Amino acid sequence: MKQSKVFIPTMKEVPATAEATSHRLLLKAGMIKQNTSGVYSYLPLAARVLNQIEQIIREEMENINALEILMPVLQTGELWEESGRWSAYGPELMRLNDRNGREFALGPTHEEVVTSLVRDELKSYKQLPMTLFQIQTKFRDEKRPRFGLLRGREFIMKDAYSFHADEASLDETYQDMYQAYTKIFERVGIHARPVEADSGAIGGSHTHEFMALSEIGEDTIVYSDHSDYAANIEKAAVVYEPSDKEETAGDIEKIETPDVKTAEALAEMLNKPLDEIVKTMVFKVQGEYILILVRGHHEINEVKVKDYFQTEGVEIASEDDIVNLLGAHPGSLGPITDKDVKVYADNHVQDLTNLVIGANEDGYHYVNANADRDFTVEAYSDFRFITEGEPLSDGSGAAKFAEGIEVGQVFKLGTKYSEPMNATFLDDQGKAQPLIMGCYGIGVSRTLSAVVEQNSDDRGIIWPKAVSPFDLHIITVNPKKEEQRELGEELYAQFNENYDVLHDDRKQSPGVKFNDADLIGIPVRIVVGKKAGEGIVEVKRRDTGDSEEVSINVVNQYVANVLKEVK
Ligand code: ATP
Ligand code: MG
Repeated sequence: MKQSKVFIPTMKEVPATAEATSHRLLLKAGMIKQNTSGVYSYLPLAARVLNQIEQIIREEMENINALEILMPVLQTGELWEESGRWSAYGPELMRLNDRNGREFALGPTHEEVVTSLVRDELKSYKQLPMTLFQIQTKFRDEKRPRFGLLRGREFIMKDAYSFHADEASLDETYQDMYQAYTKIFERVGIHARPVEADSGAIGGSHTHEFMALSEIGEDTIVYSDHSDYAANIEKAAVVYEPSDKEETAGDIEKIETPDVKTAEALAEMLNKPLDEIVKTMVFKVQGEYILILVRGHHEINEVKVKDYFQTEGVEIASEDDIVNLLGAHPGSLGPITDKDVKVYADNHVQDLTNLVIGANEDGYHYVNANADRDFTVEAYSDFRFITEGEPLSDGSGAAKFAEGIEVGQVFKLGTKYSEPMNATFLDDQGKAQPLIMGCYGIGVSRTLSAVVEQNSDDRGIIWPKAVSPFDLHIITVNPKKEEQRELGEELYAQFNENYDVLHDDRKQSPGVKFNDADLIGIPVRIVVGKKAGEGIVEVKRRDTGDSEEVSINVVNQYVANVLKEVK
């Protein structure tokens, strides 16, 4: 393709709000353009990369016998009522009405549609297992769309759904998918790590997320240096071993703590370590208020609260609700109250004697409060995030942390959708059973960004060749010079037969052309410059920056070799 004819609106300056490297570089390289918050157009270079990523995904899906389909984006509200998610999905679901006032949603994911599709068609165990996949635009009204394609409101996803007669068959497909995902991320040039993830309130389920390691990642991965343990921090269990309490319980005392709003401020005022202060959080669990205590240096993990109570219906109570309930504001809350609220506590609170807690009166705390004597704890459990350096639950040593971008997820759903939606098959005894399901997603547009996050330098993108928009970039330095123009055209015609070639034939200054080439990041560049008359060109690698003068007699073979070497 001739660069003079391609639509690549490169930018000198990008908005300061583009914080992520991939967001900045994709804008700068003229690959994407924002339409509105979290909604982008993919320009020709990005469309080419997407096509390559999708091609790799299709190949690996077909390798494990998944069948490509395309389901509707527009989904009826009734279908979502059937699964119970019309109300449960919340404001992220993009809802709309048709001209008759009937409710619809733009698909954020397709469990409902696919389940309704197969329940009419998959009738016998003989048709199982079956895996269907599609590559399609999804919609989620994200609270904070950001980082360009990494968190959009409209984005491209590969979603797959498998259907089984028994758990063993689901396990097999889950393993196949896990392997296919590993291959896909390797092939597109992403270093991704599978991590154990939380499966929400559905007990017994099993799920892994594939995390592309990156500073900008919104997820924290907890891993071990001594084993293959890796888990999302939401999931990583905290080990608790009771320690002997040596301190004796003192007399409870109410103290004045004016203007103290945080555990840190309280610790400073009392000259005590932060870990000896106890924080109180108020949650609403399926409509009922509860208190959870956690030590000052720890943070409550809402996912673990949901797991403990086996429900998605958990939210942090609003300030108004808290004041109504306990008569005090956050900062002065505690477990001593005559209100009918149950108190739970994180395991590690048990190690403390003489707790410092809020008095449920603004500006007051208690010191020397003790469980059993001054208040009752319903149960102790693991309610918090692990901290770096704490022992891991697999016994392999200290927890290490890394940041990651979730590029994919595999999930055993079981009968979560088939049961409420009545999707059954007849087993070999002729008995109707709910279909057992798995679902498997890859963020295709997020993957494109993740490739850039992991493959760039301060000059621009360094595309891995498997997904690069072009294999070769021929740059005719000065097309006004006849010998350069002619050789450039000749090489372009020649290489174009076997490769995808972008030919920079523009009448721009060499500086602009080289800068753009670095920015766009095609793996191998052939520069036709001053020595064109002697039949010599320069071949340059984008990744190492190594370059060599090569005679046009051997340039074919030379370029083929270089392309073999680059990642
Ligand atoms: P996240 O936790 O990042 O919001 P999720 O777990 O809700 O993602 P899934 O429902 O598992 O997402 O969707 C499958 C894949 O789709 C994710 O692994 C991710 O790669 C991609 N994805 C999800 N939300 C977005 C988004 N807003 N923009 C781009 N890609 C997304
Ligand atoms: Mg996910």
